[in-house]
Formats: sequence, structure tokens, C-alpha cells
Amino acid sequence: MKASRMLIATLKEVPNDAVIPSHILLIRSGMIKKMSAGIYNYLPLGLRTLRKVENIIREEMDRAGAEEILCSCLQPKELWEASGRWYKYGSELMRIKDRHDRDFCLAPTAEEVFTDLTSVLVKSYKQLPVIPYQIQTKYRDEFRPRFGLMRSREFIMKDAYSFDVDTEGLDKSYGLMYKTYERIFDRFHLNYKIVLADSGAIGGNGSHQFMALSSAGESDIVYCDCGYAADAEKAESKAIEGVKEDLLELEEVNTPNFKTIEEVAGYLNIDKTKTIKAVAYRDMEHNKTVICFVRGDREVNDIKVINALNTSEELLRMATPEEIAEIGSVEGFMGPIGLNKDNIIVDNEVALMYNALVGANKADYHIKNANFARDFKCETKDIRLVKEGDLCPICGKPMKVERGIEVGQVFKLQTKYSEAMGCTFLDKNGATKPMVMGCYGIGVTRTMSAIIEQYHDEFGIKWPLNVAPYHVVIVPAKYTDEAQKDLADKMHDILNDSKAEVILDDRDASLGFKMKDFELIGIPYIIIVGRRANEGIVELKDRMTNEKIELPYMDAINKVLEAIKNI
Ligand SMILES: [Zn+2]
Repeated sequence: MKASRMLIATLKEVPNDAVIPSHILLIRSGMIKKMSAGIYNYLPLGLRTLRKVENIIREEMDRAGAEEILCSCLQPKELWEASGRWYKYGSELMRIKDRHDRDFCLAPTAEEVFTDLTSVLVKSYKQLPVIPYQIQTKYRDEFRPRFGLMRSREFIMKDAYSFDVDTEGLDKSYGLMYKTYERIFDRFHLNYKIVLADSGAIGGNGSHQFMALSSAGESDIVYCDCGYAADAEKAESKAIEGVKEDLLELEEVNTPNFKTIEEVAGYLNIDKTKTIKAVAYRDMEHNKTVICFVRGDREVNDIKVINALNTSEELLRMATPEEIAEIGSVEGFMGPIGLNKDNIIVDNEVALMYNALVGANKADYHIKNANFARDFKCETKDIRLVKEGDLCPICGKPMKVERGIEVGQVFKLQTKYSEAMGCTFLDKNGATKPMVMGCYGIGVTRTMSAIIEQYHDEFGIKWPLNVAPYHVVIVPAKYTDEAQKDLADKMHDILNDSKAEVILDDRDASLGFKMKDFELIGIPYIIIVGRRANEGIVELKDRMTNEKIELPYMDAINKVLEAIKNI
């Protein structure tokens, strides 16, 4: 491919709506171009990489025995009504009407379509299990699209769905997809963690997320060297016991105008780890006010509170002073002693404290020397937010916290959709049963972004060879120089004939200008044909390491071909 014939659209300027490296570099390297907020067109170089990313996913899915299909992005409302999600899905669902006033949506996911299809195609246990999948455009009407392909309104996803006769079968399919995902993300050379994404109703191993580590990520991951890893919202930590002391008598202290635990601890000169912090919530689903108690240096994890109350995010808010008063407490002076057990949630670490400071449930007073077993014994729960350095619940070592980009998720759906939509089969005994389902997603375009987040430097992208738009570019310092032109052309032909994906930069521009372009685009190998062309000597630059060596041109060619062979 000659550079002079290509739609190279590199930019010097950083686009003003871009803040993270992958967004900046995708635009600056001319891989994608914004059309509207959160909607992008893929230019030739970007499309080549996108296709390679898709193909790696396709190869591994096929290898696992999954079968590719392609469903329409346009989905009728009836299917979403059958699953009960047409209204539930909320404003992220892009809804449209046709000329006959019939409702459709642009697919944000495809559980409904796959469940419906399989219910028609599969009738007997003999046909199960099956894992159909597709690589298809998806739509989500993000309130605030941002970060380029990371949180766009149109994106490409690989979604797969497994259908089994029972939960044992589902466990097998789930295990197979989990392993397949490891193979896929290994092939992308991503540094990733697999985190437990759900410990709620579905069970401890109901869902895992594949998170590419990156400061540009939108989720916190808590992990330990022993292998424990979880989404920060779900992560647990070992409860730490306070310094043992003899239990002292309760003592009321006057703390006028000190409302936060920080203020009171400072005023009384008590370490925060010896105080108990209170946060009051209103559960609107159950019309109930609850006060949550954690150690003074901790934060309450809202998600854990939602799970403990068995309510939803939309139906939980902070309690008002009036609501707090209704259950016998006072805002700013809330404590666990004397309150109804139904109105408190005590973190399990609080049970391990000695002589703690708590609110007195009356204005301007706190109580010293509160002890769980003696003064407010109740059922405890883990409701605290885990932070860096907290101890691993499995092995007890300090854990780390890093940000991650969710590039994949595997999920055990069980019979949620098959029951709602009548996706059944006849078992061995002729009985009708719902199929047991799993679903498995990979954000294809988001994976492209994640690779860039992990592989870039101040000059641009550093694509791993197997997803680079081209393998190698030949850059003559001066293409009008006869010796340079002859050697560059010759190398281009040899590489082309050897099935290398090669660009020849035949543009009439300075060496520096041309180098900058291809360093920005991130072509893994750059061969510079310069003043020693007449001796057959060239320079080979490895973009991943930025090392440059001088060598005979055939050696350069062989090095590149060898690397391509080992992709
Ligand atoms: Zn551990």
C-alpha cells in the first residue's frame, strides 16, 4: 500500500472533548472520526484494527464450539414486552417507531432475540447445549457519552448466549466461556484482572468481569496477590479487631455543635478507629429508615446497604432529620444503643471494637465506652467500603486497589429469560423444561480503547503486532533519491509477496514528518531507508521498544517476517 493513496488523517491538535489517551490517540491517529456525540465513523486504519480484534474473538469463540449468527439491530417492542424489559430498561434504550406506528428499539443487547430464536430452533434435549453468538453494533443512549469508544452511544459488542438442559450444563458452558475469554484477552496482550462481579442473589460465582487495568477505567478493582479480586462495590475485607481493653462503664458526654464524627473525635481527642460513624438511609421500597454503623475511619458502601435491604439503587436515598427522629434518633448524634434492631445495620467490624464512642440519640450528646456485645448486640453485616491496604478476606494480606476498564463479562442468567419467554425443550422423559441460560459479552470497540490505554507513549499508539492496522511501514528519507526509491520499492515488493501488511511512504515530505505520522498511528515496525541505501543498509525501528538498529535490508525483512510468523 502506498501512503500517497491512503486516507491518512493524522492530527497535531488534541481534540478538545478528549481527556483520556485512547480517545485522544484514536482521533489524532485518524483511526476514527466523530460524527455526533458518542457516534464515530471508522476510517481505514481504524477499521483494519477493528476487524483484527473481531477476528481474534471470532477464532476463539469458534474454537470453543460457539456458532456465529447475525441478528438485526432493529428489535420489535413485542420481544421486550415478553421479557418485561421494555419499560424497565429506562432511557438508555433507543426507541423508534416505523411508519405504521409500530415500536422498535435499537439493540443495546440481545437476550430477547437469542432466547426467542432458540425457542423456535431447539425443541429437544438432544440439541443442547448450544452457544450462538454474534459480533454486532449495539446502541445505548448514554446521558453523557464520553471517552471516545469507551462510553459511546453506538458500539460493537460480541454477545454470546448459552442454552443448557440444567444448571450443571450451565456451569460447564460458563467455565468454557471463562477460559475462552482468558485466551482472548491474553491474545490482546492485555494486563487484566478477572473480578467477582456478583455476590448477591444469584450466588458467589454468578458473574465475573474481565477488567483491563488502566487509570482511565471507570471502576475500582480490589485485588490480592493470592488471586482474590472483586469490583470495589462488591469487595470484602477481613474485619479488624480493635486493641483489646477492659470494658468500661458507659459515660454520656456533652458535645455541643459537634456533629460529624471527625469533629467529635477531635474535640474529645479520641482516635477515629475508636469511634462509630452513622449514616442514615431511607428505603423507599419498604418505607423504612435505617441507620448504618461502621468504624469511624470507614465509609459505608451504598451497594452493600442496597443488598442488605433487598431494595434497588433508585429507591434508596439519605434519610431526612424528620425520618431519623421518627425512629428515635437525632441527626448528628446517632448511635446504635437503644434503637430498634429493625432500624439499624451494624458492620461486622463494629462488633470487634472496645469502648467506642457513639452518638447518644439526643441532641448535643455522645456516649463513651460503647461495647457491641453488652450494649447493642444484633445481627451484623459487611457494609463497609474496601480501600487500599485493607486485608484480604481469603488470606489476610493487604490488598491493592486499581482502576479498570470492563472489557468483558460472563453472567449466569439461569432461567430468567427462558421462563419469561417460553424458551423450553423436551427432556429425556418428554417433560417440558425451560432452558438454563448464560450470557457472555465483550466490548469489541472498548477493547480497542483498552489496548491503546495500555500500549502508548508520548509519540502515539504502540499496537501489538496482531492488531496493528499494518505490520510494517517503509519510510524512505527522500523518495526522489534514486537509490532510496529502488531499495524501498524492492523491500515493499518482497514484504508484499511474503504476505506482510506493508505500507510504503512515498509521500513528498520530510523524514521527520513521515516518522511522526507512523509513530502516532503505531505501526509496529518502521524501516527507514536513508543515506546508506546504496550499500543496502537500512534502519529498523521497533515501535514497542523504540529501539533502532542499522542492518542489511534482507535482515530487516527477515526480522519482520519472523515476528509476523510468531503472531
Ligand atoms: Zn489474599
